[in-house]
Amino acid sequence: MSDAQRELGPDDQVIVDLVPMVRKIVGSRVRDPHVIDDLVQETLLRVMAARSRIEGDTLAPYTAVTARNVVASFARRNDRARDRAHLLAEVDLSEAPGEELIRQEESSVVAAALARLPATERDMLVAHQVQGQDTKTLAAHRDSTPGAVAAQLARARAKLRVEYLLVRDNVEPSSDRCRAVLRALSAGDRRRQRELDSGAHLLECDCCAQIGANLLDRRPTSSDDDEVRVPVAKDADVVTARQRGRDIAAQVGFSATDLTLIATAISEIARNIVKFAERGEILIQPVSDDGRRGVTVVARDVGPGIPDLSHAMRDGYSTYQGLGLGLPGARRLMDQFDVVSEVGKGTTVTMTKWQPVEGHRGPDRESMEARQG
Ligand SMILES: [Zn+2]
Repeated sequence: MSDAQRELGPDDQVIVDLVPMVRKIVGSRVRDPHVIDDLVQETLLRVMAARSRIEGDTLAPYTAVTARNVVASFARRNDRARDRAHLLAEVDLSEAPGEELIRQEESSVVAAALARLPATERDMLVAHQVQGQDTKTLAAHRDSTPGAVAAQLARARAKLRVEYLLVRDNVEPSSDRCRAVLRALSAGDRRRQRELDSGAHLLECDCCAQIGANLLDRRPTSSDDDEVRVPVAKDADVVTARQRGRDIAAQVGFSATDLTLIATAISEIARNIVKFAERGEILIQPVSDDGRRGVTVVARDVGPGIPDLSHAMRDGYSTYQGLGLGLPGARRLMDQFDVVSEVGKGTTVTMTKWQPVEGHRGPDRESMEARQG
């Protein structure tokens, strides 16, 4: 958690610089200007969430394939909504058999993906994820160390994510290089991405463009049920947003101290929406990444936007433009913090707090204190 990582600097400018390209890609495929805005924002959110795991030369190609993918899944959602509307007219779906079917399909996809892993990795994943064995127990049974087991689990999970998407989307890799590129993306291994020239491959390979754009999207790891969306327009909404955020963070297993920090950051951001923007919303959702658990908060406002982001991120920034005011304060309370703003349109803040690495099975006093010190 270095200070440089938290500074709104060249790294964030890189994201801002991607906006015209994303807008062009989405705009060439979608007509409705409101939908274009939505899909551009969704693309940027996904790229920001994956930003730290993508190597420099891979970022622009990754963003391009993500934009295309976001448009494609929007089109699929539309089709599905039409299909369901048709079903609803004919059958009574009050028992929601469709959801049961989706769950069954989901578990058979996971089973098929697991079957593609080497037996040792498969057994380890099942023992950890399904039977709940911790890394210490796993290490003892394997004459290994907890650290080595954790690294093996992370590699196995990265592979599983790749196989899961290949099975789910019924895609066959078109060359030997595909799995290597996809695994490097999945693992967030930037050195390996560079070695494989992943950016170039993403642009020329349809398989990896499709699968790669979904790999770093953290949302599949938590179901939609977990996500809470709070519309924010009045003071009471600030309280609701803060309470819901606290609840979700508590379910994730954060310490009492961290719960307060997270709730405060949400308050800060939500209050700004009420004060200065026309309206907005706050999305709160548990996330996980290689066994580490956390909570991500996305705040969007329909406000004037922030003309000079780096200025707005300085302490004491007061000439308010949308979400700007509380940003430096909220940033200090969270581990990851990203802002995208468009003048005249609004501002989106995405912030994440992670549990300490060794503490993902519950609060770990020791590493928490080490982190604070
Ligand atoms: Zn490929």
